[in-house]
Parts: sequence; structure tokens; C-alpha cells
Amino acid sequence: MPEQLAENSDPSTLHHAVACPFCGLLCDDLVVAETRGALSVTDNGCAKARIAYARPVVAASPLVNGKPASLDDALNAAARQLKRSRQPLFGGFGTDIDGARAALALAERCGAIVDHLHGRALAHNVRVLQTRGLATTTLAEVRNRADLVVLVGADINDDFHEFARRCLRPSSALAEERLATRRVFHLGPAREAPRQPGVDAESIACSREEVLDLVNALRALRLQRQPRLRGKRLQAVSNLAGAIAASEYAVFVWTPGQLGEDGDLVIGAVCDLIADINRSKRAAGLALGGNDGGQSAIATAAWLTGYPLQLSYAGRTLEYDPLRYDTARLLAAGAVDSLLWVSTFNPHPAPVTDLPQTVIGMPTAQASSMRGVYLPAGTPGLDHRGQLIRTDGVVALPLPQLRDVALPSAAFLLHEIAKRMG
Ligand code: SF4
Repeated sequence: MPEQLAENSDPSTLHHAVACPFCGLLCDDLVVAETRGALSVTDNGCAKARIAYARPVVAASPLVNGKPASLDDALNAAARQLKRSRQPLFGGFGTDIDGARAALALAERCGAIVDHLHGRALAHNVRVLQTRGLATTTLAEVRNRADLVVLVGADINDDFHEFARRCLRPSSALAEERLATRRVFHLGPAREAPRQPGVDAESIACSREEVLDLVNALRALRLQRQPRLRGKRLQAVSNLAGAIAASEYAVFVWTPGQLGEDGDLVIGAVCDLIADINRSKRAAGLALGGNDGGQSAIATAAWLTGYPLQLSYAGRTLEYDPLRYDTARLLAAGAVDSLLWVSTFNPHPAPVTDLPQTVIGMPTAQASSMRGVYLPAGTPGLDHRGQLIRTDGVVALPLPQLRDVALPSAAFLLHEIAKRMG
């Protein structure tokens, strides 16, 4: 029985104030209609959410080596596979808090290495936090108090699309005068400047590789040093430096998953700039990320182990190493001999590998041809209740069950595998 407050309207059931699990923003104002298991977003929510909610439920059976199997047989096969493995890798980790807890408990039991699908992107922020600290803020602060927002190489047109409506140009804010005078800048390729109606971002066009140079130039101007820019580019950056000087509360927004190999350097440079501004004014940063349960996975791992993900239970003590315990690197080096892959929000396929696998989540094309076990699982917030942590790390939002399609949660399946480990 769906647990979200529902209002009966024939033939659909409308669910209000639904939290969307399809990106780290977790917009919690969607209206979703359910008609015999089919979902559609009727109000609020971006194109990405509308497509994800509208995906048809595929009646998938558990598979063992590509052949249909009972759930019990498939769970037993997954447990046997893990018992035989000398060094398992748990990847994907696309699940909610309960799923992350269950996966970490199972990883501890079988000495696995754990990483997230977006592990590399998440690691940019974590490394800067560890090495120099981060002064960050929340979505509510941006919405209510910022009078200047700078999108640093951040493309919010597809992912994080509703950041514009909910935070950049909301219909109201606690500090109305700051909302009225708020300026929004975008540093990065002109085609990636926000296209949402009403945002009117002032674009400082540059390639992704040049974003770091522009941030360094801003800092140089702030410190009254000569920046290494000339001409129109220098004029544009000077204009932004003037806006920063005039602002009362500037917020710098980045998306770690879009910054590429320069991620640590860009985030570090922005944090240096924020620290400079905070000597006399107020400024903060905000990372938009944590899709596919990434923020929840990091937080859950931190609660339970003291470390973020990319850690290993293989030795006598826990080891955290974002370079060594990276999924692609481990598979390329042949350092693991089985893969357990969880992806319940999106049909992200497991990396191509000859290793025996257990895949938990949405059906993908590879499920019927893979060597190993496939266990269909529901999506948190659609097929079962759950909780996720928002990109700013300050709120854990409850996710409702919107339909009853008899798909188990990843947490249930992982607990069942653990029980069969003996
Ligand atoms: S911006 Fe993200 S959380 Fe909001 S509706 Fe779109 S996909 Fe869902």
C-alpha cells in the first residue's frame, strides 16, 4: 500500500510533496500521479525526473548465468559466489541509506573493497575537505540569503536543473532584498550557461580547462596582484571581481562530476578565494553532486567507519585510499576476482568484465548474458520507502512508496545474501 499521503482521484492517485531520488538535489515538491503502477510527474520536477518516473516497470525474474531462477536459488548462488571470491569488489552502490548500510555490513563480512559509481567525482570534494577544509553552505542559504551566486564550471541544464527554480530564482526568499538584487554568473562554456527562464546569468565564456585560470585570476584581483589574463577576458573577470566586492553573501557553486581531472585544483582554488573573501565579507561554497545515492553512501560509510567510500575491508584494519580503491583501476589491474554491482535508481550497467558478478537493481541489456547472478530490485522512492541525503549533506529526506510492484529493496536482498553466507 503506498505510504505517501495520497488524494484519490479516479483513475489516478496523486501524490504530493514527493521527494525525487534522481539527482542529489532531492527536490521535495513533485506531484506524481500513479495509475495501475505507471507513474508520471504532473507538477514540478525536471525533464530528467519526468523520464525516470515514467520508465515502465519491467517484469524481470532473478537470473543465474542468464537463466531464470527462483529468488531463493539466485540468493544462494550470490552467496556462494561471494564465499568463493578471495577479493570481492562492491561497486555501483546506487542505493539508499538502508541499502548502503546493508552493503557495508556484507562487505565487512566478506572482506570486500567498496566504491561508488561516482566515486571519482565524490573524491574531489573529499580530498579538498581533507587537505585544506571546505567552507560550505546549504541550498536554503543560497535560496534565502545569497546576493551573488557564481556557477564555477557548473552546467545545471540537465543534472540539477531545478537548482535554478528552487535556489537561484525562487518565487520568494527570507531576505527578499537580496533575492531582488541577486546576480548570477556562470564561468564555463557559453553553451552550458543556465537556460532556465528568468535566470539571466552573466556568462564569462571559457573552456572547461580554462575555468581554473579564471578562478586564479579572480583571486589575484582580490589580492591586488596582476592576473594572467588580457583583453575582454580580463574585463569580464574584473566585472565579476567588482560584483564580489559589492556583495554581502557570495556563494560559489561547483559540480565535482563535471570538473574532470582538474577537480581537486578547481575546488581548492575556489576554496582559497572563499577564504580570502571571508576575511572581510561572507562567502561559501556549495557542491552539486551525490547522484545515485552518492551523498548517502559517503555519509553512511563515514558514520559506520569514519571514512568515506573507496575503502577496503580486506586487511586486518580498514584501509581508505581513493586512488587504489577505484573501480576502473581495480578491474584493469586484475586486483579483484568478483564484482557485486548495485544500481537501483538508473539502469547503469556494471563495467564490462569476465569476472563473476552479482548485479542488483534495474534490468539492463547485459543481465541476460552475464556470468553470475542478477537480482531485480525496486527503486527507493518509487517501489519502496527509503531515505537519501541531499547534496548539501544537511538533510536526510524520506522517500515514499508510490506503487506496489512487488520488487524487493536492495537492502533486503543484501541482508538475504548475508544470511546465506553461513
Ligand atoms: S533537479 Fe534532480 S531532484 Fe530535482 S526533479 Fe530534477 S532530477 Fe529530480
